[in-house]
Amino acid sequence: MSQFRFSRRPDIGDGVRVSFEFFPPKTEAMETRLWETVTRLEPLAPHFVSVTYGAGGSTRERTARTVNRIRTQSSLVPAAHMTCVDASRSQVDEVIGEFVDMGIRNFVALRGDPAEGVGAQYRPHPDGYSNGAELVAAIRKQGDFDVSVAAYPEKHPQSPDFATDFDMLKRKVDNGATRAITQFFFDNDLYERYVERARRAGIYIPIVPGIQPVHNFKQVASFAARCGAHVPAWLAERFDGLQDDPQTHALVAAAVASEQVLDLIERGVSDFHFYTMNRADLAYAICHMIGIRPQPANGGSDAAAA
Ligand code: FAD
Repeated sequence: MSQFRFSRRPDIGDGVRVSFEFFPPKTEAMETRLWETVTRLEPLAPHFVSVTYGAGGSTRERTARTVNRIRTQSSLVPAAHMTCVDASRSQVDEVIGEFVDMGIRNFVALRGDPAEGVGAQYRPHPDGYSNGAELVAAIRKQGDFDVSVAAYPEKHPQSPDFATDFDMLKRKVDNGATRAITQFFFDNDLYERYVERARRAGIYIPIVPGIQPVHNFKQVASFAARCGAHVPAWLAERFDGLQDDPQTHALVAAAVASEQVLDLIERGVSDFHFYTMNRADLAYAICHMIGIRPQPANGGSDAAAA
């Protein structure tokens, strides 16, 4: 069984802010689906929405196109993910400049993983930025932007220990990061302990939990194994036998993620970042469960996320 405590307070959603993460679509059909998702989630007035950057910088154009479409065709504030893997400093600076010229003021700065995928040995480009902290500095050199960075409640899988992770997170903050977004996790105690340790290490920026609704348990479990996120036995039990029953799987996924978020709200968390996988239904249902309702048109987040 999970450890989550339910809250039934009628004011549960007060002061809660959400952000949504998308990936850049590869095909026209995927583009249509993403746009349906954006349109469905837009009235929930998220703080911002972010668009990922493919491994090894492989989606540079698609990421740019997607953030630009969100910026110009919706009321949402798009944040561009950027990585520095496999690129020289001048190439990275050029990409930052392109985003800035486009009007982007919100970034998610990541080192990135090698093109061979998560878990492959990372080697900085000989003329490149060697980690997330250096990329943050490069972005901030071009303007006073909102820069989110990654944080790992269960430690980065290639990091020798938590101290190394906190050193890197502190360097990112010192270089101008304004917010950390965590890798997904399913045990809220781990997140709470991580935030306490970060504060003790002198890191005071918001550490926003990344919430992964379980669209497909098998896929999420496999990704979790690669990125070092623990899948508790109780979670596997919840989805046991639902592999070929998508309707029940979705209902259980909404319940599980809602429990997790409600428990975090009980613990004082107010901001949440949802990994949507470009699907609206689970994120929408979870937002509803935490009291977030559609806002009238033009009443959404028209100010740049800060
Ligand atoms: P860094 O902060 O540079 O380093 C991560 C950790 O590695 C450090 O905490 C440290 O412990 C260790 N480390 C780094 N350098 C050294 C060193 N010299 N010596 C010892 N230890 C070291 N990937 C993408 O490709 N595209 C995306 O859009 C994307 N979005 C993401 C969004 C979020 C919210 C998160 C959590 C991850 C995302 N990732 C993305 C994955 C990310 O690129 C990988 O986790 C990558 O392995 C590390 O990136 P980082 O920015 O955390 O790296």
